[in-house]
Amino acid sequence: MKKTSFFTYFYPITSHQKYKGLRSDFQRIFDRFRKGKPALPLLFSGRMVYNHFQVIAMIHRSQTRPVRVGGFQIGGNDRIVIQSMTNTKTKDIEATVAQVLALEKAGCELVRFAVLDATDAQAIREIKKRIHIPVVADIHFDHRLALAAIEAGVDKIRINPGNIGKEDNVRVLADACRAKHIPIRIGINSGSLEPGVLAKYGHPTPEAMVESAKNHVSLLEKFDFHDIVLSLKSTSLEDTIRACELAAEVFPYPLHLGLTEAGTAFGGTIKSAIGLGAMIREGLGSTIRVSLSADPVEEIAVAKEILANFGLYQKPRLISCPTCGRIQYDMIPIAVEIEKFLALSGKNITVSVMGCAVNGPGEAKEADIALCGGRNEALLYIDGVQIRKVPQSECLDVLKKTIMEYPEK
Ligand code: SF4
Repeated sequence: MKKTSFFTYFYPITSHQKYKGLRSDFQRIFDRFRKGKPALPLLFSGRMVYNHFQVIAMIHRSQTRPVRVGGFQIGGNDRIVIQSMTNTKTKDIEATVAQVLALEKAGCELVRFAVLDATDAQAIREIKKRIHIPVVADIHFDHRLALAAIEAGVDKIRINPGNIGKEDNVRVLADACRAKHIPIRIGINSGSLEPGVLAKYGHPTPEAMVESAKNHVSLLEKFDFHDIVLSLKSTSLEDTIRACELAAEVFPYPLHLGLTEAGTAFGGTIKSAIGLGAMIREGLGSTIRVSLSADPVEEIAVAKEILANFGLYQKPRLISCPTCGRIQYDMIPIAVEIEKFLALSGKNITVSVMGCAVNGPGEAKEADIALCGGRNEALLYIDGVQIRKVPQSECLDVLKKTIMEYPEK
């Protein structure tokens, strides 16, 4: 008969991503109890109470209303969909298709096009025949462009209902989207709040952004339209986070997370990791777009890295130390080359490349494959077991071969 314990029931109940930390803390307490060590102080530690119950108290992405986009779902689960936006002219079909195919190859799941006129809207029909991921049409002010994009087969619309003129326009748009099961993203931006809201709050505060979102949402709800995704973005990191936290408390709709005008590949990556990371850690967001002043393909790599660090994206992981005066082999070029190699390997494994015996053997125990440096050589580990010494000149080749031969689990 299968042995049952507290964890037989505790694990399934806490299997959700947001309880991962709580679960491992309880496991530690349980282990200490078994070994006869004092464990209760851990249970009441401020860190545990604050970290876990603060997270649990938040509205979580899995509790949002599910919205269908193309073949998949945004919201209502613990998945975060990665999206980007092309920077080609949408009417330039060849260039746009080429960029979307590059984005797809990088791992983009949803792509947004700027639709400036009727030619852009019509181009969607031809582009969609040649790509494989759903398309969002980004439209401002003119609901007729949204209708043309819907006619051309778009999968989602980004428009602010409050900006498209009389209410009848909103009703027509809501009806057209409902008929084709197309959701609408309402994108609130601190730089373009309506004058009435700005006058009330004085500045584009998080509360002002949420009030603006309420105005737009209520217009769609008035026409019984609920397939809504919301985004609230400010150039201020703090304001974006607070606005999204408030929105999660107020609205049942999935949140699209992004930081508007985040910056270049360097600064924007850091800002996105901090801002998006903070919100994802709180359980917010069902889709993300990293915005960089760079090739959009770079946005996908950053999004994947952020999500992977929260266990929300499966990708190969590289652990490497910064090196220090104890290093006795040339480690940094190996770590750099292996990171690129892993990205293309298609292997869902953890590889550790470490400088010396101080932390190397410990990391090797946690990794599938590890290299731990010695004097002009390194020790190779597989599944935490020391295999053999590898001379410096062979480290790269041996590590690559071991990665490719490592069995999928
Ligand atoms: S693992 Fe060794 S070489 Fe690397 S940082 Fe730590 S002490 Fe330095």
